[in-house]
Amino acid sequence: MTNPTPQPGILDITPYVGGAAPAPSEQKTYKMSSNESALGASPKAMGAYKAASDSLYLYPDGGAHELRAKIGETYGIDPAQIVCGSGSDEILQLLTKAYVGVGDNIIQTQYGFLVYALAAKSCGAEARFAPEKNLTADVDEILKLVDERTRIVFLANPNNPTGTYIPDSEVRRLREALREDILLVIDAAYAEYMEVPDYASGEQMVDDFDNVVMTRTFSKIYGLGGLRLGWGYCPAPIADVLNRVRGPFNVNAGALAAGVAALEDQEFVDQNRSFNREERDWLAQQFGGLGLEFVPSHCNFILVKFPDEPGRNANDILDFLKSEGVMVRDMGPYKLDEWLRISIGEKAGNRRLVELLSKRFGNDG
Ligand SMILES: *Cc1c(COP(=O)(O)O)cnc(C)c1O
Repeated sequence: MTNPTPQPGILDITPYVGGAAPAPSEQKTYKMSSNESALGASPKAMGAYKAASDSLYLYPDGGAHELRAKIGETYGIDPAQIVCGSGSDEILQLLTKAYVGVGDNIIQTQYGFLVYALAAKSCGAEARFAPEKNLTADVDEILKLVDERTRIVFLANPNNPTGTYIPDSEVRRLREALREDILLVIDAAYAEYMEVPDYASGEQMVDDFDNVVMTRTFSKIYGLGGLRLGWGYCPAPIADVLNRVRGPFNVNAGALAAGVAALEDQEFVDQNRSFNREERDWLAQQFGGLGLEFVPSHCNFILVKFPDEPGRNANDILDFLKSEGVMVRDMGPYKLDEWLRISIGEKAGNRRLVELLSKRFGNDG
């Protein structure tokens, strides 16, 4: 007799660890470890969530009709090809479950978002990591890893935790060189922050090709991370597959209501984008002034490099900041041991961070 045994691959998973939250304390604390919205959520979305509490006894609309219609209207895409999920994380998991099996492989980039590899392992598949150049995805390196068992290529564009992106022309070159039976998943979680002309979030590619899916989230610029809401835009046959494998009520009523209201408040999104740009530029300037190397970012976080010196290395700075109530993200799981990922926070948090870093890196530090 043996005890219940999980499927192959599952025990190889090291569970994903989210950004640390500050411990309750007297001191004012700042959570800059999970790329959450610095401006919170839209007041309209919060209002809609509260109003939804009147009907919590009712099952949600399992087809997310109103939300999909609003997403379609906002982004100019067909609601019938949209599938909503409990975070875009659920869409990534469902795609893997539906298209990847034991002995297959998925490809992601070296410093790409780690959730893809975890999803692959939970399906008994291998995760292959394509080397990056200058902390940026490299299409040729991705293509070198493709073999007959490759089922999905995951590309976070722009990527977390690096904040780098590849232009639309490169994403198209990647798709062009992939076999038609390989799915290209473009994770555009930070698309709303992007302000460069050569970037495209991927909806046009979904329209153009039968093997491209784009995923999006309400967790970042929309400020609804706690509600777990995301979506995928897919070719119709892939949307059909996801609708078969997802739970019938996978998105809760509060998330559906808040999501619609959040989409209606694009003014909030615009505010969040410009606040983020100003604060990111300011932080980058401060890091530069302190002699710290960082990766120019297009997102709501910056990856910063620390010297290999006692008291000033990434680990020691992580602990120092934490002891002062500022939480940033350790990059150990990404094998970027000399780096910390710092989310753009509220104004006071960004200033507190710089004040603390000045004590270690300033002229008087
Ligand atoms: C934050 C993030 C997501 C969003 O995940 P949710 O499950 O929607 O909260 C997806 N991909 C990347 C690269 C991210 O950084």
